[in-house]
Amino acid sequence: MKREKTMSLNEIIEVINNFNSFLLTTHVNADGDGIGCLLGLGSALKAQGKDVKYFVPGILPTKYGFLKGFEELNKNLENIEKTEVLIILDTPTIERIEGFSFDRDKFKRVIRIDHHEGDRTIADLTYEKPNYPSATCLVYELLKEGKFPINKDIANDLYVGVLTDTGSFRFNNTQGIAFQIARELVDLGAQPYYTARMVYEMETMAHLKLLGEALLRLKVHDSFGFSYITKEDFAKYNANENDSEGIVDYLRKEKDIEILLFLKELPEGGYKGSLRSKNDAEVKKIAELFGGGGHRKAAGFTSNLPKEEIIRIVEEEIQKENQEENVI
Ligand code: 5GP
Ligand code: MN
Repeated sequence: MKREKTMSLNEIIEVINNFNSFLLTTHVNADGDGIGCLLGLGSALKAQGKDVKYFVPGILPTKYGFLKGFEELNKNLENIEKTEVLIILDTPTIERIEGFSFDRDKFKRVIRIDHHEGDRTIADLTYEKPNYPSATCLVYELLKEGKFPINKDIANDLYVGVLTDTGSFRFNNTQGIAFQIARELVDLGAQPYYTARMVYEMETMAHLKLLGEALLRLKVHDSFGFSYITKEDFAKYNANENDSEGIVDYLRKEKDIEILLFLKELPEGGYKGSLRSKNDAEVKKIAELFGGGGHRKAAGFTSNLPKEEIIRIVEEEIQKENQEENVI
């Protein structure tokens, strides 16, 4: 398949207009942005009479079950080879779509829409704006440019992406554009109060207990904070992966922390690491040491090393960076 590079929405709009069946997918540990992209774009395509299917790798983030169409995710994935267009959302590489076993060459077109700096060779058409607040902002631009109607449900899907990926308009990706698009989405019917309540005030007891364990274990060395939760914690509270989402956002609140590492032990062994930076440090680089990636200030990885070893490597890297900074 010939891969081109493009930043043009018109070519993507043309594909939408000219084809009838679409498979929409996003990264593993799908978050509000990924799910918001899928349901927002998917609903808009369906309103155009298109056939739409969704593939979400890993376990579904049930927190977003309040969004219209959530029950359609991962349904009817048989005969997927007959689908014409694959759209990859909020996802920089194919590896991030864990368990993606479809043959990409069988699709007539592959499109990628993302705010990560990603692999430009995986799609025919790429619409990528790194540092944009959310991938849903890019979907919004696409729908607007293509003059596809945006109803209140679609507006809400897209709003969820802006809300969650900016940490409720707090992270450094919260630029004017985040407020501008959020404002336009609210004008189109997105509901900020209801959405914030559903996203932030509907946690399970298991989530709060895991959070408690993580907070109790939080340690800060200079400006490096770290904490972890274990398989035993998951078992003790009968918790699943969904229950452990968002803990990292509480841990980072401690005043001295500039860089935070949070480790979750995985059911199959090994750890999922989440890194956050409150200063100029680029945690993506640290995540890459373990084969992971992400954004400058929010990145992640998985590793089979013991947790003490992971913490040591991260801390050493931070010290190295600090020394280099001091030399300059
Ligand atoms: P989180 O810590 O919330 O899981 O992820 C933060 C950011 O890092 C997200 O942009 C996410 O896509 C990215 N990320 C998380 N885990 C991995 C990983 O294992 N590999 C890569 N390449 N990126 C990751
Ligand atoms: Mn995103």
